[in-house]
This record gives sequence, structure tokens and C-alpha cells, in this order.
Amino acid sequence: MHDVIIIGAGPAGLSAALWCDELGMDALVLEEGVEIGGQLLSVHNAIENYLGARASNGRELLDRFAAQIEQAEFDLWTEVEIESVDLRAKRIELRSGELLQAISIVIATGVRRRKLDVPGETELEGRGLIESGARDREAFAGKDVCVVGGGDAAAENALMLAEVCPTVTLVHRGERLRARRDFIEKLRAEHCITVFTRAHVRRIIGDEKVEAVEIEREGALKPFQLAVQGVLVRIGVEPNTELFGEQLRVDERGYILVTSDQETSVENVFAVGDVSNPLAPTISGASGAGATAAKVIASRLGASRGRASGR
Ligand code: NDP
Repeated sequence: MHDVIIIGAGPAGLSAALWCDELGMDALVLEEGVEIGGQLLSVHNAIENYLGARASNGRELLDRFAAQIEQAEFDLWTEVEIESVDLRAKRIELRSGELLQAISIVIATGVRRRKLDVPGETELEGRGLIESGARDREAFAGKDVCVVGGGDAAAENALMLAEVCPTVTLVHRGERLRARRDFIEKLRAEHCITVFTRAHVRRIIGDEKVEAVEIEREGALKPFQLAVQGVLVRIGVEPNTELFGEQLRVDERGYILVTSDQETSVENVFAVGDVSNPLAPTISGASGAGATAAKVIASRLGASRGRASGR
């Protein structure tokens, strides 16, 4: 029996674990990946707004987190495959057959990038599909590229690629971009960027590597092919909640609903970080939410242990 089991070892889960340790609770962190860090592992540009620590990318900030948690005494298991979770019973079954039990559960499973789900997207992975404008800029220098999406991530990546690519075509399904105003102004000022709105990439074409995209513009008679050597998709993210099925209340997009204590609709089950924060997913927010959950859990445990010992 653990005091707390934390599912996910991104900034939110690690922060919760650090606080649990600090507050004298026995915490176990389960991470499905080989490495801890969650989305920090896919942040390739500078982190400027995490108070107290600037970093040139997610990996650098993660290294500081890792150094800090080294001193802590919570258990951290990586490459854990969870078979099922019973949130009411606070019981977790691993694929190995092992059963884990806790008093509280903290869900910190984060989000994953949404896929476009068009032919060529999976087949051409690593052969023209651009993972990150910041990381892959040099590899795509001098090449024509297409960026799909209309939010901050698509705009930011298009601007980064425009520094080295002769043409960048931004394809957005909506009427208006929803990116930050300063990004939109920069996109407009950048001559090599063309923005297609109300447009859809229907296919990524290429045998050995990306050669073109098929674009359908609303109102046009037929789709056309645009020759590009790189495609970057940034169409938002979706929460990792499949493990919990119907056990929790979620919003219309599947994000877990929580109280200001980070508690979910199931008593003593908490959700922290991006999986419960669709509006303001930040590293600072994730870290704060982890701390909040741990403090609430500690106060409840303290109260119940106090009662049990007759205090
Ligand atoms: P967003 O959810 O903000 O935007 C996703 C975009 O993709 C929307 O324009 C949406 O279109 C479009 N989209 C969604 N699904 C599809 C689909 N199936 N096909 C085509 N287009 C689709 O996600 P982002 O990844 O841009 O950003 C995620 C979060 O990270 C945001 O909070 C953002 O502010 C933050 N961020 C901040 C940055 C910064 O400030 N430097 C940089 C990067 C991210 P529609 O508008 O029609 O819904």
C-alpha cells in the first residue's frame, strides 16, 4: 500500500512526487516511457518563462529537474505498462500482473500531439515529416516546406522555418488563424510565407521521401498538389485519458475536470498538468498543480492518521 501513486513523470507528476516526498508521504511514480520528462522531451526551443530557470530547450530544464529529484526518496518506475486502473478502489494492475494499491492517485498523463490522419503521414515519418522547426531547421534549410495548423505552435514553427527555407506554406482549416497576434503580424511580414485558410492537407505524397502535399481549398473545384520536401503538423494536442475510460468526469474534449484542489470527480483521485488544463498548459502551471495536489493529499492523510492515532 502506497500513500500516493502518481501516473506520469512529466513536470506535473515530478512536482507532485517531490512535494509528496517533502511532506513525508510514500509516493510511487509510474512512467510508461523509457525516460522521464513528458513533453519536455519534445520542447526544442528555448524556455524563457519558467520562473527561476531559463533553459535553451526542454532537455536542459529536465536535466535540472532530474538533478533535483535525485535527492528525493520516492520510487520511480519507467517503462511501466498499465493494464487497468480502478480509480474508486485506487488499484492499478500492471501488464506484468503486479497489483498496486494506494490511498490517493494522481493522474499526470499529459497530452499527445494530434495527428492529421491522412495517407503518407505515418508512412513518411522520418523521411520529410518535420518533428520540430527548432530542432530540424538546419536539415530543412533550402527546402520548400508546408506547415499544417493555425495555432501558436504552427505559427511559431512556420516563422522558424522561414528563416532558412525559400518557401513556407501554412495550411489552416479555419477562416482565421488562432495564433498570438504578434505571431500573426510576423507571418504577414514574412515574404516567403504563404497562408492558405479554409484549406486542408488531404495527402502527403512521396515514395522514398516527402515530395508534395495535396491541398483542398474550400470553394475550389478540385484539390491541387504543392511540391514540398518537408511537412510539419501542429494541429494541437489531445489528453491521454484512455486508461480511465468512463470513470472520471471530463469536458467535451476529454480533458479531466478538477476542482481548485486538483481533485477529480472521484474522491482522492487528482489530476495535474496538461491532462486537466486545456486552457493554459504551461510548465509552471503543471508544477504548481502537482504541488497543490500533494499538499491537499498530505493534509487529508495527516487528518486521517491523526484520527487513527487518537490525536
Ligand atoms: P491549438 O489547439 O492552439 O491550435 C491547434 C490548431 O490546429 C487550430 O488552429 C485548429 O484549427 C487546428 N486543428 C485542430 N485539429 C485539426 C485537424 N484535424 N486538421 C487540421 N487542423 C486542425 O494548438 P497548438 O499546438 O498550436 O498549441 C497548443 C498550446 O501550446 C496552446 O495553448 C498554445 O498557446 C501553446 N503554445 C504556445 C507557444 C508560444 O506562446 N510560444 C508556442 C506553441 C504552443 P481551428 O482553429 O479551426 O480549431
